[in-house]
Amino acid sequence: MEFDVIIGLETHIQLKTRTKLFCNCSNDADNLKPNTTICPVCMGHPGVLPVLNKQALEWAILMSSGLNMTIAKETKFDRKNYFYPDLPKGYQISQFDQPVGENGSIIINTGKGERKIGITRLHLEEDAAKNTHFEDKTLVDYNRSSTPLVEIVSEPEIRTPEEAKAYMQEIRLIARYLGISDADMEKGHLRCDANISLRPIGDKELSPKSEIKNINSFKNVEKALIFEIERQKQLWLSGEPPASEETRGWDAVKGITYSQRMKEGSNDYRYFPEPDLPLFKISSGILKQVLTDMVELPIQKRQRFAEEYGLSKKDIEVIIESKEIADYFEKVVSELRNWLETEVEGEHDEVWEKNRKKIVKLATGWITTELFRLMKENKVKIYDIKINPENMAEFITLIYMNKVNSSAAQTILSEMFKTGADPTHVMDDKDLGQMEAGEELDKIIDLIIESNSDQVAEFKAGKDPIIKYLIGLGMKATKGKGNPTDLEKIFRSKLKD
Ligand SMILES: [Zn+2]
Repeated sequence: MEFDVIIGLETHIQLKTRTKLFCNCSNDADNLKPNTTICPVCMGHPGVLPVLNKQALEWAILMSSGLNMTIAKETKFDRKNYFYPDLPKGYQISQFDQPVGENGSIIINTGKGERKIGITRLHLEEDAAKNTHFEDKTLVDYNRSSTPLVEIVSEPEIRTPEEAKAYMQEIRLIARYLGISDADMEKGHLRCDANISLRPIGDKELSPKSEIKNINSFKNVEKALIFEIERQKQLWLSGEPPASEETRGWDAVKGITYSQRMKEGSNDYRYFPEPDLPLFKISSGILKQVLTDMVELPIQKRQRFAEEYGLSKKDIEVIIESKEIADYFEKVVSELRNWLETEVEGEHDEVWEKNRKKIVKLATGWITTELFRLMKENKVKIYDIKINPENMAEFITLIYMNKVNSSAAQTILSEMFKTGADPTHVMDDKDLGQMEAGEELDKIIDLIIESNSDQVAEFKAGKDPIIKYLIGLGMKATKGKGNPTDLEKIFRSKLKD
């Protein structure tokens, strides 16, 4: 029996507003001691009144727009009733039938081509507090109570665990580009519940799904779904397919999902309109105002980077992984273009066209390998590095012009990284400029030939790989300032006869 796999994701993103969703408590719960950023409102004391955080609503609108959704003209909050120690009010303020955004979609790419995944809705809601379980007790930290979340519900159009991961990654990227969340999964800023069911190919009806709760890493989304597909498949093959909907947990240590309870339907929550909050009208004026914060989104950047810079898909993904890196990269490229247009004779556009691909590729290589390595080793983010885009561009031109070889370039870059110094100064100070072909180099090579007569004889007798040995001596004698290609050329021409 073959099966269709049907996956839908509910993603929660914690907004990084200054204050919580309905009160003035600081939203910086991560950095505060337990139960220190709380007040009667977020503790759910009787008689208190919630006041909606304007920024949270604006960001929900912005995110909806980033997911190509239709924005509601009027949005409403509802009470979702259930009892749990992490929910002091006995209900959560969420949105039921009038969410902020509906009917959107994003494009994902798993390397097997692009697919469009529909998004049903985006709504705002408050988070619950956090339970920490110990052997003999459970402690509750109310700092997280009432922090703002957007919940994004996808259509059940995801077909593989790999697609689920790609979908989550794209959602995170968009949220980060819009600056509404750090979307750090380790800190729980981004979590997802995965709904999954199997259906024999050809069947029209959907089978009861299981919902795997609170998955908190991309790796675990993929792993939990792989496990669950196999588990459900075995149930089908044994003639006892899932008969009712079920809520399951994910045990990352054991790598299994486990049954928690039969799933609640929305009827179980007795949703009703939140009487303490008004309807919020989103006029075209408000919408226009909010959308002034819209930025170029990852999908648009991918397309533009391919067109403008001729970058490969793989390079593009590395560069656009963060907006700050993409911005830095573009500043470097723009400096390089200025430099080319000033230094190289000819029509500006033609000069750029002719050199563009090669010089951009060179810059991409140095930024994504050596610069990234230095950043990682020193735990520094791109917006904190000392190398400004002008100096980075100048550094690239030194390599492009063959003024330094690649080992000298690495030394220069390390120094720039440490001090923020100008690359040409570092090159001159440390005497790292490449030794160009000429009298001085000729003398060095002649000396090597003279004092290595055995090797020279072997080479002349046809043992070609000896050339590598001679180049090595040349590099040593020039203290690494020689250019291996130049050295090889000179050696070969001198030893020709
Ligand atoms: Zn509060």
